[in-house]
Amino acid sequence: MILPDFEYRKAETVADAIGLYNEFAGNVRYLAGGTDLMPLLKHRLSTPAVVIDLKGILDLSTITAQDGWLTIGANVTLFALKQNQTIRDYFPVFYQSLEATACETLQMRGTIGGNLLQDTRCIEYNKSNDWRVARGFCLKMGGKTCNVVPGARVCLSNYCSDNALALISLSATVKVIGPGGERAMAIEEIFSGKGSKPFALEPGEILTHIRIPMEKSKGAYEKLRVRKSIDYPLVAVAACLKEDNARICVGGIGPAPRVYDLKGLGTDRVVDASRSTYADAKAVSNTTLSPEYRKRMAGVLFRRAVNKALKEEK
Ligand SMILES: Cc1cc2nc3c(=O)[nH]c(=O)nc-3n(C[C@H](O)[C@H](O)[C@H](O)COP(=O)(O)OP(=O)(O)OC[C@H]3O[C@@H](n4cnc5c(N)ncnc54)[C@H](O)[C@@H]3O)c2cc1C
Repeated sequence: MILPDFEYRKAETVADAIGLYNEFAGNVRYLAGGTDLMPLLKHRLSTPAVVIDLKGILDLSTITAQDGWLTIGANVTLFALKQNQTIRDYFPVFYQSLEATACETLQMRGTIGGNLLQDTRCIEYNKSNDWRVARGFCLKMGGKTCNVVPGARVCLSNYCSDNALALISLSATVKVIGPGGERAMAIEEIFSGKGSKPFALEPGEILTHIRIPMEKSKGAYEKLRVRKSIDYPLVAVAACLKEDNARICVGGIGPAPRVYDLKGLGTDRVVDASRSTYADAKAVSNTTLSPEYRKRMAGVLFRRAVNKALKEEK
């Protein structure tokens, strides 16, 4: 499939990129590895006048451990993160989510910033323009109906980053810089909960860094997919255990991850929480697996992830 015409500009600093954003009045898309963006452009799901390449911003390509935090630049590739010994030693849930992401070729190209800010997906949306014109534009394409659930008022597309779930379970924070200045927030606050516009970022904001508190934890990542590699999660659960508490994050169903904080890890507590996960999972027919199965598997993977993490040596 052929890319549409756009102007390509390369930024060397974050200020450069924001300057370009302002110069082109926001009719731009930021580019990192391009593994999510390029298919969207090819399908004409996004038609910016200008693509601003962020990969030349070297400040965003480092990993540093300092003052009790591991700070990761948004341009660091998933493969580089997987090779990092601190991540292996301190954050097993993150190492496992990286390992479960797509395949090594994509991990070498894809960045953590792009992974977190990848668009939501739907079996009726990620299609060619011709296909979508024939079917009729849905809510996410600016139309008036949902092509999956007739009558739905909101878009129910799925957010499919594996690594966002692990980072949420690790209580990570993110830093963003945009035309209005800089701010930091808990990673879960970047989600709007809306499938048609999944991120609560201000126009032009750039994700610059992710910070994880440097505390050793037990953890596990469980992912349901059709094939063993390349596939997006159809439901996934990240569990991070510290002392007798757990932070668990469920994703792959609906537009934003859901977080569960557990005080105490007794069997009854875990089973009760897994039942809540099942009840909360609002799966619809927008993937290759049935909604009933994905909903059921949300609870199953929840228990599996907690039990696997409990057995892990710290
Ligand atoms: C075949 C295939 C399989 C995949 N499987 C998985 C999977 O199993 N699990 C998974 O999690 N993902 C999967 N992905 C999704 C995704 O492509 C990768 O996860 C990758 O990490 C995205 O990073 P990127 O650097 O290529 O992002 P890009 O495509 O460059 O960017 C993605 C989005 O983020 C924006 N962006 C990028 N960086 C920044 C920044 N610093 N600030 C602001 N905005 C930014 C871009 O504008 C774009 O909207 C898959 C993709 C493909 C093509």
